[in-house]
Amino acid sequence: MRTTRNICALALAAVLAACVAAPTKPSPTVSTAPALARDALKVCAGMGVSNAPQTSRNGQIINFDPTTVVAGAKLMRTPVRGCLSSGFGPRRGGAGRMHKGVDLFTRTPSKIYAGGAGVVERIDTQRGYGRTILIRHNAHVKTRYAHLSAYARGLAHGDKVRRGDLIGYTGESGNATAVHLHYEVLVDGRPRNPMTVGR
Ligand SMILES: [Zn+2]
Repeated sequence: MRTTRNICALALAAVLAACVAAPTKPSPTVSTAPALARDALKVCAGMGVSNAPQTSRNGQIINFDPTTVVAGAKLMRTPVRGCLSSGFGPRRGGAGRMHKGVDLFTRTPSKIYAGGAGVVERIDTQRGYGRTILIRHNAHVKTRYAHLSAYARGLAHGDKVRRGDLIGYTGESGNATAVHLHYEVLVDGRPRNPMTVGR
């Protein structure tokens, strides 16, 4: 009984939230990530996640800070709503196989947001990465988004984006076996751990 009541309360809260959010109509090309910055991040349950950071008993990453500043660029650590399905660093068991980013599993194609303000430096298909976007945030910092199912409509090379703008949708293009975002943070061309960089 108690569970049912809680679900109803949650549903009501969601409806109310939707009503409150309704008046701000996003422009057709730009939609900002609403609550992403406040979200806690969980490690995906039952997926044998390699390089997983420390979590609390309910799977939430301890001391997770959803945003960071990297060499002057303000970035989201997780520019999609998903769970962490693979951490950064050498893969378990694979000698020398380095994972240059983090994987964020979304089950179905889901919105990907620009991790920070910048310029679309590349938007193309790359070997292994599949459909990929590379955003340059400043002279030192770039972010890469890989395995997309689709790009945001109209997004093109050279476009300026703001942090939180819709840039594409998660998928499994390239070398991927599940719908997820592979997200990289590059500082002077070197991949850094999106979960900890800038701290
Ligand atoms: Zn990956």
